[in-house]
Amino acid sequence: GIKMDNFDPAISWENLKKNSDGLIPVIVQDYTTNDVLMCAYMNEEAFHATINCGKMTYYSRSRQELWMKGETSGHIQYVKELTADCDFDTILAKVSQVGVACHTGNPSCFFNEIVKKEYIEKNPLKVFETVYNIIEDRKNNPKEGSYTNYLFDKGIDKILKKVGEECTEIVIAAKNPDPEEIKYEISDFLYHVMVLMVEKGVTWEEITQELAQR
Ligand code: AMP
Ligand code: ZN
Ligand code: ZN
Ligand code: ZN
Repeated sequence: GIKMDNFDPAISWENLKKNSDGLIPVIVQDYTTNDVLMCAYMNEEAFHATINCGKMTYYSRSRQELWMKGETSGHIQYVKELTADCDFDTILAKVSQVGVACHTGNPSCFFNEIVKKEYIEKNPLKVFETVYNIIEDRKNNPKEGSYTNYLFDKGIDKILKKVGEECTEIVIAAKNPDPEEIKYEISDFLYHVMVLMVEKGVTWEEITQELAQR
């Protein structure tokens, strides 16, 4: 932990907004991974002990006593950074965690799922893989009224004709000062290229590998 002996914090205990029990919640985060590890409370004594010895110390509400995290388990949390939030009623602690934060043995206390929305992919390039997989699935399991299946049924010449057409449409759209149109044409083109890729059995992995080694 950082040496904090006789260290004067930039924000004192008096400047923090305590809850009705005189405590302040502390959100604990792993300083390297940013994983949220746990939440606990500090009273004034815990706040000063944490700053003076560089090890996270809380007030145990169940045991009603000062609690240095890891005192029995050895799972000490060395203080790397303490920050107060905008309205000074919550502390964020970045720590170097020895062992695991949770007394259940889980690395983090946060594992009891309440609600979970569908995962939104942060990597925009992931959509190429998703669309490719859908096109491939259409080829293997034809779907009534599917345009993709219409293309596969017509065969390679029809697919190539569409790729050529969409390519020309990009050239025309590029002459239009409105950038909206080219967006649609490039998307149309990429979709038809992927239909061609599936038809020819070429994968994105092979394309990206080829590009990367050039
Ligand atoms: P420790 O501080 O890790 O030695 O644990 C001492 C006691 O504190 C445990 O037996 C638990 O009752 C409690 N405890 C430890 N870690 C947590 C945690 N992350 N959340 C809630 N209670 C905890
Ligand atoms: Zn805020
Ligand atoms: Zn707040
Ligand atoms: Zn826990």
